[in-house]
Amino acid sequence: MYDFINGDEYAPAPESTSELNVKEQYGLFIHGEWCDAEGKKTFDTIDPSNQKVLSKVALASSNDVDKAVAAARSAYNGEWGQMSGSDRGKYLYRISRLIQERSREFAVLETMDGGKPIRESRDIDLPLVAAHFFYYAGWADKLDYAFPGKQKVSSVGVVGQVIPWNFPLMMAAWKIAPALACGNTVILKPAETTSLTALLLAEVIAEAGVPAGVVNIVTGAGDTGRAIVEHPDIDKIAFTGSTCVGKQILKAVAGTEKTYTLELGGKAAHVIMDDAAIDQAVEGIVNGIFFNQGNVCCAGSRLLVQEGVAEKVIKKLKKRMESLIVGNPLDKNTDIGAINSKEQLNTIKRMVKSATKEGAEVWQPEGNVPRKGNYFPPTLILDCAQSHTVVQQEIFGPVLTIQTFRTVNEAIEKANNTEYGLSGGVWSDKGAKVFKLTDQINAGIMWANTYNAFDPASPFGGFKESGIGCEGGLHGLYPYVKLNG
Ligand code: NAD
Ligand code: MN
Repeated sequence: MYDFINGDEYAPAPESTSELNVKEQYGLFIHGEWCDAEGKKTFDTIDPSNQKVLSKVALASSNDVDKAVAAARSAYNGEWGQMSGSDRGKYLYRISRLIQERSREFAVLETMDGGKPIRESRDIDLPLVAAHFFYYAGWADKLDYAFPGKQKVSSVGVVGQVIPWNFPLMMAAWKIAPALACGNTVILKPAETTSLTALLLAEVIAEAGVPAGVVNIVTGAGDTGRAIVEHPDIDKIAFTGSTCVGKQILKAVAGTEKTYTLELGGKAAHVIMDDAAIDQAVEGIVNGIFFNQGNVCCAGSRLLVQEGVAEKVIKKLKKRMESLIVGNPLDKNTDIGAINSKEQLNTIKRMVKSATKEGAEVWQPEGNVPRKGNYFPPTLILDCAQSHTVVQQEIFGPVLTIQTFRTVNEAIEKANNTEYGLSGGVWSDKGAKVFKLTDQINAGIMWANTYNAFDPASPFGGFKESGIGCEGGLHGLYPYVKLNG
């Protein structure tokens, strides 16, 4: 398990940004080469901390997607499709080590393009990205033993992968590592606001000597994503993003032979029982909702606190929130960085306004939030009803709703009263309560007396409108293999 407090050996700290050379323009990575998009079209990516243009990125058309799919298909039919698992593993180990070597560069670029605090990209994202490649490298030559009772394990083919902006490099790793371990080739599209670390990863993949066409990175927005999803020569779609787009993708693949996995939104309940260790629970709550500005699918965004301790928990939580630093993502002391886009910032503002309108109380600590850039302060919404918009819908920001409950059963009922089912958390000193809550809350991932603990060996995926299929662990291999016998 990754040690969040002390970090680990995977990623050395970035010492300065001067070693980072952000290019003025980035191309598409197709068949192992960099190329312009059709008509040399580009779009801007900004640094959300100051809204300045960071770089220009190629805007891939459906013809560019065609080229990428053709490259992936020929790589699949060629050397890569015939390669032994142990040889594929060697490439993945190489990629993991190169990511470690260049982790400072990756962390700084991730923070500049995306807005997350450098402390997080350096100490959490990058180590987990390297660990993910290491983990799946280890499976590459063991696939014949991974599925007992199955005689034949083969790859799926050409995979189209579309990812969101909140964990740009980590989502790329979650997609690419298992796909390659199982012998597939990929076309990956990063989110339009955070393309740069996926493009740096392409550089690393080339440096690792991975054969041309095995990994292709195409950049662009929804239209480029749609061209991937609708492409007739793609065998499988792996998507992470909003439930709304997930539903469109489900419609697009219906009636085709494509297989699919969808990792979608969440609205996790974070349950505090009155026998919980309160100080630890408060740290867990803070980590659960303010990590990555709350732009986290599995964020503990609905606090359910037992009546007897509610006042105490809220008081301690407010005090703790007063110490959180909102500001420059590149500053090592920053706790809450910039919100990735103006659109997302406006969504958060709109949701918080709806809370006041619907009769809840909004609380924010006094303190300095930089006026320039996309910032939003850590926020509590008190006196919430289950029917409030902020309790029902994903806010995807540093905003925590608070409700109270009396009994374990009431907590379970409230926790499950949502269309989502991705994650949840429980704090209690009593094993029986922990087991009852983690068993009966209907979510793919449940944490007990901790929150947001990730490990490549642990499967991650949601129920209900939070998605279909899992990433991570042995479970994460299933979408990328065909099993016979
Ligand atoms: P989004 O759905 O708007 O976009 C995700 C990706 O899909 C982007 O690359 C986008 O360009 C692309 N896209 C947009 N329209 C498309 C279309 N019609 N066809 C194909 N591709 C299209 O999501 P977002 O705002 O980037 O990300 C935030 C969402 O992602 C949140 O809802 C969050 O909960 C979810 N998320 C889920 C997980 C998980 O593992 N379950 C992880 C991270 C984020
Ligand atoms: Mn950006």
